[in-house]
Order: sequence, then C-alpha cells, then structure tokens
Amino acid sequence: MQDLVPIPFLRAKPCAFIALSLMLIASNAFGAESVCFGGTAKGRLENGVALPQSGPNFTAYSRFASTLDRTYVHSKVADVVGEAYAALAKAQKDLVFVYGESGHEKGGPFPPHRTHQNGLSVDFMVPVRNKAGRSVALPTHPLNRYGYDLEFDRRGRMKDYRIDFEAMALHLEALDRSAKKRGIGIERVIFDPAYLPLLFATSRGVYLQSEMTFMRRQAWVRHDEHYHVDFALPCKPLR
Ligand SMILES: [Zn+2]
Repeated sequence: MQDLVPIPFLRAKPCAFIALSLMLIASNAFGAESVCFGGTAKGRLENGVALPQSGPNFTAYSRFASTLDRTYVHSKVADVVGEAYAALAKAQKDLVFVYGESGHEKGGPFPPHRTHQNGLSVDFMVPVRNKAGRSVALPTHPLNRYGYDLEFDRRGRMKDYRIDFEAMALHLEALDRSAKKRGIGIERVIFDPAYLPLLFATSRGVYLQSEMTFMRRQAWVRHDEHYHVDFALPCKPLR
C-alpha cells in the first residue's frame, strides 16, 4: 500500500498554525456566512463582511469608509450588491454608481442612522448625470458630509447634476432580481415619496411597482440624495 503523502501545512508548528487560523477567522477569509440578530432598528451581526471599495462601475461614498467600519453587511447582502453591480456593468456599461453607508462589522447602533443595525440595510447614493448628460459619480466629500448633505430640487436637479431615475430603476431591479435568485428579498425601499412618480415613469416602473415595496410616507430625514434598501432574510432573536 502506498504511503500517505504528508501534508506540509499540517506539519507546521502548532503556534504558527494557531496564528494563521486566528488571522483567517479575524478576516472572515473562510467566507463564513454572516448571522444577523434582531431587526434593522435594534440588532447585531456576526461575521459581517465589508463591501468592496470599488469595482468597474461603482465606488464607495468615501475612500476611508471601510477603514472606519461603516460599510459592513451580511454576507448574503454583499453577494446581492456585488451581483447587481456586475449585471449592470455588463448590460449598461456607461452607468456609474456610488453606494453609501451600511453598518458596523458587528452591527449595533449606527448613528446618525436610526436603523442599519443588523447588516441588512444599505444606502445607495443616487446615480446622476452631469451637464453633458454623462453618467458620473455623485460628488461626495467631507464638506457635503460625503453626499448626505446634498439637496436636490423637486425635479431631481442640483447645480449641474440631475438624478438619473432610469439608472436608479435599473439598479433597484437588478438588486431585487439578485436577492430573489438567492432566496432572500427586499423588505422595503425608502426614497423621497415626491420622487416616486418620476421613478415609476421609467422603463422599469411597472416592475418596481409590482415587485417591490416603497415607503409612501416621508421618512424622518428626506431621502433625496440616497435611497435606503432593507433586505429581507430571517435573523435570530436578539438576546
Ligand atoms: Zn439608510
């Protein structure tokens, strides 16, 4: 009988093995699935994963956000967000997107947001077009509180920028389709109710109205520069 081939990894010194294991666990490198507890307004998260800083057609609202522990989500939500951007990169190459805040690696209170506590909430900054009609990233920097202080008018305009409702509708549809494919869903979308007719007038309006739930009343802060998405998946009770 042939001898078993020794595996060098298993012959490493125990201390090196333990150190490596701790590093991998700390970075969630095994891709362990996240576990959420409680609800979006009072909850926590285990094995949270950071959204990627950027991709071919998207960036985070801040280069430093990931180092500030503000862009973590449930692993399934990360998969959905990534898949939706990838689908859009293939089908709508000219569109660029910016995402906003999501939550802490371990969830919990996330001021100034009232929710975002269990890895299932993500803010997306509105996709915009510039004066030339080109899809560009929303300008986000410390002076406009990373985009959150921007104010758009009734028609979705701000200086040389206008909200690209068509791109936003395509993004929401991509998120919804990806979420459903993965056996989760979208609980609700919060966006300024005054803009909903403009969103529903796009080519994806019928899909959005029949497949997704939008909050119809005004939220505690105006959601004109971003739309908030709560994903739906079962969480364990918060003890
Ligand atoms: Zn939010």
